[in-house]
Amino acid sequence: MSCEEARIAIMGLLDGELRPEEEGAVRGHLRGCRECSLEEAKYRNLAALAKAASLPEPTDAETSRFWAGIYNRSERKAGWVLLLVGLALLAAYGATALAVAETIPLPVRLGLLATGIGLFLLFLSVLRLRLRTLPFDPYRNVVR
Ligand SMILES: [Zn+2]
Repeated sequence: MSCEEARIAIMGLLDGELRPEEEGAVRGHLRGCRECSLEEAKYRNLAALAKAASLPEPTDAETSRFWAGIYNRSERKAGWVLLLVGLALLAAYGATALAVAETIPLPVRLGLLATGIGLFLLFLSVLRLRLRTLPFDPYRNVVR
């Protein structure tokens, strides 16, 4: 195995992705080649540093405190309501404009209309299923 091949295979070795015969060949090269062995040690140190540098996550208490604030809850609800109202208005306007747009060929208008209605029906179907199964959701009371 050449040094170039060994250096390519070192990452696979550290990630445990090599077949046994490949691993044996790389380890054999590392035993006999000081430069590649040093390279492997550098990669191993980098992997250990990356593993140790995991980002902190907010605690459940911090998340609960955030959602306890009436402003935070209202902001989220208002955002959803405005988003849905805006989408409904745009859909109604789009459907009306599409119905009277004689410059757009009829098959295109019908295709766009069918796509819009299909998306709406799929949204309703997913929403109804979610609402019906919500009481049985085992993750319902999980904060995050
Ligand atoms: Zn080498």
